[in-house]
Amino acid sequence: MSDQTRFILNETDLPKFWYNINADNPVPPAPVLNPATKEPVTPDFLAVIFPMLLIEQEVSTEAYIPIPDEVYEMYKMYRPTPLIRARRLEKELGTPAHIYFKYEGVSPSGSHKTNTALPQAYYNKVSGTRALTTETGAGQWGSALSMACKFFGLDLEVYMVNVSYQQKPYRRYLMETFGAQVFASPSDRTQAGRAALARDPNTPGTLGMAISEAVEVAATSGGLKKYSLGSVLNHVLLHQTVIGEEALKQMDMAGEYPDVVIGCVGGGSNFAGIAFPFLRENLRSGQRTRLLAVEPCAAPSLTRGVYGYDYGDTARVAPIIKMHTLGHDFVPPAIHAGGLRYHGMSPIISSLYDAGLIEAVAVPQLATFEAALTFARTEGILPAPESSHAIRAAMDEALRARETGEKKVILFNLSGHGHFDLSAYAAYNEGKLEDFESPEEAIRTIPERLPEIPSMQSA
Ligand SMILES: *Cc1c(COP(=O)(O)O)cnc(C)c1O
Repeated sequence: MSDQTRFILNETDLPKFWYNINADNPVPPAPVLNPATKEPVTPDFLAVIFPMLLIEQEVSTEAYIPIPDEVYEMYKMYRPTPLIRARRLEKELGTPAHIYFKYEGVSPSGSHKTNTALPQAYYNKVSGTRALTTETGAGQWGSALSMACKFFGLDLEVYMVNVSYQQKPYRRYLMETFGAQVFASPSDRTQAGRAALARDPNTPGTLGMAISEAVEVAATSGGLKKYSLGSVLNHVLLHQTVIGEEALKQMDMAGEYPDVVIGCVGGGSNFAGIAFPFLRENLRSGQRTRLLAVEPCAAPSLTRGVYGYDYGDTARVAPIIKMHTLGHDFVPPAIHAGGLRYHGMSPIISSLYDAGLIEAVAVPQLATFEAALTFARTEGILPAPESSHAIRAAMDEALRARETGEKKVILFNLSGHGHFDLSAYAAYNEGKLEDFESPEEAIRTIPERLPEIPSMQSA
């Protein structure tokens, strides 16, 4: 075991390939359905909003997909990212556990989202796309894609969930600085947005609504604009696996192997990024690392949702996918972890969870901020509210190890920094944050709010 604190790889250790879990996945995700016909989607349906190169990655079962040279060179601006042993946090908790975290907050826009923003912009550019549309919650995805679009000379329209647009204006200024156009969602620029505003003029907005707007703009652009999604889809999870591939090498440098790997989940991409390379080792080499996904109690799709077919967006224009869902019309409470306010979940994460190959837990907002403060005060890094869900779960594992005296090795993904989330910290410090009642009524009615799928629901 190493006595180092930071484990830093050389530039030449940056992985040359992304790892595709669907090469080893014993429970491949169910087919994606066309929202109009409810039949499996055809590539030409998807080609209206995505470039073919990304559609190919979406359905690929190749284990290793090469990272294009241009993307690789840009990754080198911030990768490999550090893996750090949280020695001061361990001491504070009085735990015999060893706590390591992979720090994705060093990326230029401050989160792991850059790992997929760069390749998505690249594949669009080489496919002749002129402009992209997207949604963003707290704004991390929008910032990452704004930067990537500027690098590759693409225009970008961002539909930003209204509550975050209001709570977190600085993320908007960052996107605009990178050259993107940002609109509060729901907006009056789309049919989906106008319908949502007609239903509730004061709606805080949701990722599901913002997705509807961004998809509509791309789908009605006559092929000029494509749509880009920052999570959920197979190709997004694929791009994030550089995190776990690096972490495997860094744990090796540390002379330890994790008993548990932890990540927060909104749509599932940063968790997949760190966990899938370790899952491969479980599946292929008999390792037995626990893989723990952490979600907010306010949007508990894995732990309380239904595993079934549902729309990816509120206006029912996005494909129907089999996933753990709270219902496409579910409006999560306005928690500060805006990136975790999604009604559904990645179909790969859902099927792995259903099969018991990964675990999940939900944590409340106040306990999450408490963990964030402990982390900031010991390790000196201000975590994103989303990432703090992983910190909460890692601390809980470490505290349990203190009870049992076990020298557990814990690895979590610190998916981003919280420098643009200071209004949330101010609210917490002033005692103005609250926990939300678990949405019992909404959860009880999920089955009746899902679309009827004639042939597939039982398949
Ligand atoms: C977007 C975001 C998340 C949630 O998205 P996933 O796709 O589940 O990773 C988590 N952490 C940060 C910092 C984010 O920006």
